[in-house]
Amino acid sequence: MKRVYNFSAGPAVLPEEVLREAADEMLDYRGTGMSVMEMSHRSKAFETIITEAEQDLRELMNIPDNYKVLFLQGGASQQFAMIPMNLMKNKVADYIITGQWAKKAAAEAEKYGKVNRIASSADKTFSYIPDCTDLPIDADADYVYICENNTIYGTKYHKLPDTKGKPLVADVSSCFLSEPVNVTKYGVIYGGVQKNIGPAGVVIVIIREDLITEDVLFGTPTMLQYKIHADAKSLYNTPPAYGIYICGKVFKWLKNMGGLEVMKVRNEKKAKLLYDYLDESKMFHGTVEKKDRSLMNVPFVTGNEEMDAKFVKAAKEAGLENLKGHRTVGGMRASIYNAMPYEGVEALVAFMKKFEEENQ
Ligand SMILES: *Cc1c(COP(=O)(O)O)cnc(C)c1O
Repeated sequence: MKRVYNFSAGPAVLPEEVLREAADEMLDYRGTGMSVMEMSHRSKAFETIITEAEQDLRELMNIPDNYKVLFLQGGASQQFAMIPMNLMKNKVADYIITGQWAKKAAAEAEKYGKVNRIASSADKTFSYIPDCTDLPIDADADYVYICENNTIYGTKYHKLPDTKGKPLVADVSSCFLSEPVNVTKYGVIYGGVQKNIGPAGVVIVIIREDLITEDVLFGTPTMLQYKIHADAKSLYNTPPAYGIYICGKVFKWLKNMGGLEVMKVRNEKKAKLLYDYLDESKMFHGTVEKKDRSLMNVPFVTGNEEMDAKFVKAAKEAGLENLKGHRTVGGMRASIYNAMPYEGVEALVAFMKKFEEENQ
């Protein structure tokens, strides 16, 4: 067996301990004589799995009692519609455009109401986070929407926007559980888990209770109503059971590691190693304004497309996989999520140094 260092943006690397444990439990989950994949979602064993997963997530993120935790399907992209359908009471929302995912979310919301694009970093190919200290928030806005970590461009809000009292809705797909958060600053926090938590097929929504109502847009399907899922504790229909089980294991792994404070320190140390090298290298350059750099997704270029392609190919041969940048931006991108060990980033930087020497 050979494992590579997988720098994919998602689906992405998972902790090896978690994969081993899941493998051990594959045929017979803790004496039940069956796999979690084969189990009723109404069984005692699964009830324990989902209840513990929620409790552990609540503990990790310090989620207050007036927030619900929902395990849903449809990926992060489904939330682009679900959010306006459930939250647009006045049919107005403010969006901050910091990349493809925020752009897509805004375009989807526009089907349901008025969307104000109140700030954007499109003028410099999304290489920074706009100033959000005094935004022109619409008095009627039902919420203010951000994509907190921009997976494709490698930027992150290190300070949340001042929403002037409006609920903040954040897509945290690619920074979920990467550092501590103050949940009370948000109305909704959501993310697809396939970036930093678990297998594709689960999206986690953390939503303040007062935002969960029956008063949704006319025609909203039952399956797209937060209240339906909140009332049924994410068991309205068959949930993505196996995915939730793996997420639960990752939550326990994170708790064992020491929680999100410890993850933040680890993630900062990993990112610093790579960014410091990018800052001194004559060949490779980061593409993001330093103050807005993401701890999770690190895009970089050589400035020469042929050299980029040569690098990606050589890196793959050296066991450093999925370093090709997003198809819309080119270059390279190293995603260094929670489960990427420090040694993986060390190996990458050592390889980049060697490549630079050999290709001057
Ligand atoms: C990957 C990603 C998405 C899309 O996720 P899906 O689960 O494929 O719909 C949305 N937002 C962000 C920030 C992402 O990184």
